[in-house]
Amino acid sequence: MHIGNLRTALFAYLFAKSQNGKFILRIEDTDQGRYVEGSVDVIYDTLRTAGLIHDEGPDIGGSYGPYTQSERKDIYRKYALELVEKGAAYYCFCQKDERESESAEGGYDRHCRNLSPEEVKAQIDAGKPYVIRQRIPLEGTTSWNDMVYGEISVENSTLDDQVLLKSDGMPTYNFANVVDDHLMNITHIIRGSEYLSSNPKYLLLYQAFGWETPRYIHLPIINGRNADGSISKLSKRHGAVSFQALVEQGYLPEGIINYIALLGWSPKSEQEIFSMDELIAQFSVDGVHKSPAVFDYQKLGWVNGQHITMLDPQVFIRDAFRYARIEGTALESKWPKLASLLQSRITKYSDIPEKIAFLHQLPEYSTELYIHKKNKSTLGSSKAILEKAIERLSTLDDWSEESLLSTMTELAAESGLKLGPLTWPVRIALSGLMATPGGAIDILYLIGKDESLKRLSSGIQLISKENLVDEK
Ligand code: ZN
Repeated sequence: MHIGNLRTALFAYLFAKSQNGKFILRIEDTDQGRYVEGSVDVIYDTLRTAGLIHDEGPDIGGSYGPYTQSERKDIYRKYALELVEKGAAYYCFCQKDERESESAEGGYDRHCRNLSPEEVKAQIDAGKPYVIRQRIPLEGTTSWNDMVYGEISVENSTLDDQVLLKSDGMPTYNFANVVDDHLMNITHIIRGSEYLSSNPKYLLLYQAFGWETPRYIHLPIINGRNADGSISKLSKRHGAVSFQALVEQGYLPEGIINYIALLGWSPKSEQEIFSMDELIAQFSVDGVHKSPAVFDYQKLGWVNGQHITMLDPQVFIRDAFRYARIEGTALESKWPKLASLLQSRITKYSDIPEKIAFLHQLPEYSTELYIHKKNKSTLGSSKAILEKAIERLSTLDDWSEESLLSTMTELAAESGLKLGPLTWPVRIALSGLMATPGGAIDILYLIGKDESLKRLSSGIQLISKENLVDEK
């Protein structure tokens, strides 16, 4: 499910729940040509995983079923014929593509708009296939007050006589959604602003039936940022754009939901991290913008990282494991410890392999990392500390965290140093990195005695090779 669709579902859910309304799932499957096997399952899975729980729907029923449009075929036919009766729709016997091209400006040329009842009857009796088209008034304007975009007025002469019922007897989306929204007592319609231009046609259908129109809430489009800094409609070249792909990359459903709630909506407070209940409590339509939202993967990462940090540690240990790719390695048994170091330091689960790569293999590094002003660490002092550390650690048998901490604390005291300055060069030699998840003692524990001693020795070699005179 594209995150644009999920955002629409989320806003509909938040609005419904914030108004003590009901959130209804309806499957709009009347376009058989576009039907994709398994797509309905994706909708169920996505809504459930995202926490958008519907109150009525095909799987659980409700007062207005059936909720799958292909099971409502007879209903649409009845209403289409009612419109023909009222003069608001007409039969069209043109072959598809004969008189319209979907891409051409202007659309259908209204060839069949004024056929006499006798001509229509003769064609139907002859078994000629037909569609039913909406008879759009040729004059006047259609207006509505959108809850986001305000007063909108459209000249009827700019609208085409769209198909309502196709030759296979199935309704078009544009017709079915109006009939169903009325029959299911839908009060508010929330959808993407790409539907703004179709809306007058929907309103004319409500008018023709004499039905009360619902309120409309159109949501701003979602753009992505291109490499050159410009923006364009969010697509795959900007990054993962489906909910499934984001979850697969290790974003949490609650992190994704939190972030997409902010795509086109601003809370009244400064709060940025929300649970679903907090979103429901704070959501209101007057916080929805007209201007396009820009999907910012960095912001998504920050929001998601906050949600990861808030996870129950046991849940993090369980769910992040498969992303760490340490099965069968020496690190596997130390995963709970490693996980505790990672939980507050990643933006998504798939960050983990890169974050822990140094534990598998010491990267090449520059001895400049040893030089640290605040810790008064120089190449000379680092070399001396590494030598002492090797001496002490090589005789240590108990490689537990407690034992390592007390050993290093003793070593610091003997050297007249605090623990920080003592462990600086040790951590550099163990990791080859300026910043690591966890400190020297954590890394000693994680990579084990043999590997630790090896890395400390190679640190000494590296410093010696520099053959530099320590200036300070
Ligand atoms: Zn026609």
